[in-house]
Amino acid sequence: MRIKFWGVRGSTPTPQPENMRYGGNTSCVEVRLGAHIYIFDCGTGFRVLGHEFEREFGDRPFQAHVFVSHFHWDHIQGMPFFRPLYENKGSQFIFHSSGRTRRLEQVMAEQMAAPYFPVDLAHMKAKRNFYDIESGCLHMEDGIQIKTAYLNHPQGCLGFRLETKDGILVYATDNEPGDAHFDKNVRKLAEGADILIYDAQYLPEEYEARRRGWGHSHWREAVNVVMESGAKELILYHHDPEHTDAIVDKVVTDARNYYPKVRAAAEGLVIELNQSMKAHS
Ligand SMILES: [Zn+2]
Ligand SMILES: [Zn+2]
Repeated sequence: MRIKFWGVRGSTPTPQPENMRYGGNTSCVEVRLGAHIYIFDCGTGFRVLGHEFEREFGDRPFQAHVFVSHFHWDHIQGMPFFRPLYENKGSQFIFHSSGRTRRLEQVMAEQMAAPYFPVDLAHMKAKRNFYDIESGCLHMEDGIQIKTAYLNHPQGCLGFRLETKDGILVYATDNEPGDAHFDKNVRKLAEGADILIYDAQYLPEEYEARRRGWGHSHWREAVNVVMESGAKELILYHHDPEHTDAIVDKVVTDARNYYPKVRAAAEGLVIELNQSMKAHS
């Protein structure tokens, strides 16, 4: 399993010099499992991933599964700018998202509707399939399983647990602590995972002072989740737009006082996970 981060910022893109080491693009994580491509969220990092696919595949068609956690801007804004969707070379994009609030097909049409966007959805020539998913388990190719669970976030949000022969990856962002049902849900989703990518938008003191009810977590809770779920490595994700590289550095240092295997997600970060690496870690 090869995991690559294309967008790590929460809420809105932040192309400012003081944020660029961790990155200014919003949520997008790519996972490769042999020839299979899985993508989590379509924030502005998804646009850059599209360019990488063009370089890699050229005129050859390819297929990808795209999991969309929810429809807030920072998780869908890259879609109209993802160039492979416009190409008619036989590529196929299989989208999975909850249909509780809206179907993703409708979300795409609405975000590209006049007067908000100059290009009509009809210009997207690539094959697209849309699946409504709920909490449960999806059986994918080659024995790969995706388990999903709802997180505590305004208008809802899905967390994903990818189980493969290489190991277990959990992608759980946009989740506010403090609700017993959801707190238990996310710990179960993360149980024993090799890698846990988790919402660490706020500092604990910011959360307490003025961010309750906004649907996000903080690094101290992220540490609680990794320790209480028995997950192995924590990747702090969905950095606040106001958090500079220096602040994120400090968050990592503080978090490591409680749990050693913590990193902050950064654009371009690649994590390789396989059985032999697990044996050595
Ligand atoms: Zn978000
Ligand atoms: Zn959100």
